Amino acid sequence: MVEILRLPVLRDNYVFLLIESEGSRAAVVDPAIAEPVAALLQQRGLELVLVLQTHHHHDHIGGTPELLERWPGSEVWAAASDQIRIPFQTIGLDGGDQLELFGRPVEVLSIPGHTSDHIAYYLPATAQEGPELFCGDTLFGGGCGRIFEGTPAQMLASLDKLAALPAATRIWCAHEYTETNLRFAMTQEPENQALAERFERVQNQRALGMPTIPSSIGLELATNPFLRCRQPELQLASGAVDAADVLAEIRRRKDVF
Ligand code: ZN
Ligand code: FE
Repeated sequence: MVEILRLPVLRDNYVFLLIESEGSRAAVVDPAIAEPVAALLQQRGLELVLVLQTHHHHDHIGGTPELLERWPGSEVWAAASDQIRIPFQTIGLDGGDQLELFGRPVEVLSIPGHTSDHIAYYLPATAQEGPELFCGDTLFGGGCGRIFEGTPAQMLASLDKLAALPAATRIWCAHEYTETNLRFAMTQEPENQALAERFERVQNQRALGMPTIPSSIGLELATNPFLRCRQPELQLASGAVDAADVLAEIRRRKDVF
């Protein structure tokens, strides 16, 4: 069994800790900074054995070198194709790779678009635990990452891959952007009732300082415009028909929202 802890750091980043139940080992996903991660591990008497990286941006790998100084035996998983930008990786991964983490299977998904080498980690459901997805900056609550190094067609293919995961999959994305994303989504799909309800719920949560992450694939399918590029409402709103063109147009609008 794996316990998942969410650690808010910097302005709006989330670092996730995966802790072996009834054990003393921990893994960390995208440690933007080291200090709060190290403090939490120390406080709970845990040993860091693994860092999982989704992509090379500084707010995802920034804390890793310092954590490695402290726990030099730790493995670092990252995209093999990004060896130059994540040089401290110890195990280079490709999409389709299957690994194991504290007894749970992990599948590596290649999801380029935000960056050319972005990967995600999917933990399928087991007899006792539900499916989990760590997707970095590709899919967010109510939105998707900016397209820095890919094309809209690539981002669409990556989002399609995530959308095909079980609806119950919990989404642990790396930023708390949900409220702004949904405010934008409302401008594109004002008739979407599920979206309006979610936007209201999220505004209340944020007003109380509560996190909106994890989300789920089922919730995103119903409310996230970037997973709804084939819906007639969004084709109409964007003035495009082809799903990649719809995505390109709503992404462009979001960039200047
Ligand atoms: Zn990023
Ligand atoms: Fe980021």
